[in-house]
Amino acid sequence: MKDLCLGIESTAHTFSAGIIDFDGKVYSLINDIFIPEEGGLHPVLIREQHLNNFMHIINKALSEAKISIDKIKLIAFSQSPGLGPVLKIGAWVARMLSQILEIPIIGVNHCIAHIEIGRLICQIEDPLVLYTSGGNTIVSAFESERYQIFGETLDLAIGNMIDSFARDVGLQHPGGPKIEELASKSKNYIPLPYIVKGMDLSFSGLYTAAKYLLRSKDYDNKFNLNDVAYSLQETAFGMLTEVTERALAHTEKKEVLLTGGVAANQRLQSMIRNISTEHNARFEVVPPKFAGDNGVMIGWAGILRYKAEGGHTVSETIIKPKERMDKITIPWRF
Ligand code: AMP
Ligand code: MG
Repeated sequence: MKDLCLGIESTAHTFSAGIIDFDGKVYSLINDIFIPEEGGLHPVLIREQHLNNFMHIINKALSEAKISIDKIKLIAFSQSPGLGPVLKIGAWVARMLSQILEIPIIGVNHCIAHIEIGRLICQIEDPLVLYTSGGNTIVSAFESERYQIFGETLDLAIGNMIDSFARDVGLQHPGGPKIEELASKSKNYIPLPYIVKGMDLSFSGLYTAAKYLLRSKDYDNKFNLNDVAYSLQETAFGMLTEVTERALAHTEKKEVLLTGGVAANQRLQSMIRNISTEHNARFEVVPPKFAGDNGVMIGWAGILRYKAEGGHTVSETIIKPKERMDKITIPWRF
């Protein structure tokens, strides 16, 4: 059996344990996702759930992989970026296991992990990446030793914006799939603020305007909730597509990778597929199991860095809730 890595994801709603070997073969993946009974994702409530469940999740991952914990040769954990109280749980669990098992530990940037698992699973070499999730909205590609950020949101992340709107209309978290379902029943576009500044995006004005539509005198008269959901999606995804296309034209990459939880959306997929085709680039969507937050991606990104640079010291494992991925070199790619 190859050396195995246990990857621990703990940046936000998901506590996840994934086991993957040093050649990229996946052995197991177990997720525990916090779903609020009401309201949004409160870090303290998420932290409590993760604290209650972490050993159970890790044990399930070990038993699914049919291995005992002493077979693990490396612990990787999500070190950045994310919610401070939640990141701390993963860092604490990883340090504890690394010390008990006397094996190396490595901290991983969550956004880089999303890209690397996409490259592995989709067998893609050097893509332009659109990473759209509950907490992130980033257009990135590898250039000059780093995953450079070509465009990003200036305020809300796309998934968070859609989830917030869904919550306002009484839909339970996560709202993304429910808004997609409503949007698929309409073709009635109502103009909404389309805000692209340079290469960056702003979703807060769009969110507010969509909410105002629900209170308009024309609501339930000239248009309904399906139409607002459709217009919200068309506007937001149109913005994402514009920025992605410009980054594609600039970087001249020959591959496009769509990832993050929002990548499950068929409408977004078709828009990004279209621009990829127009630029003669191969288009791939990361399958939902590996596109959402997961421990396997943390394990794989940990293995890549560990092979290139070795493990971290305990003092290097401090969490970095605001760390940007374009500050970090990617030695396994140069
Ligand atoms: P992540 O943060 O990567 O774990 O992904 C979670 C986010 O993906 C949440 O904001 C979900 O609402 C969103 N999401 C999941 N499926 C869909 C979908 N079909 N359409 C839009 N958003 C989605
Ligand atoms: Mg994520």
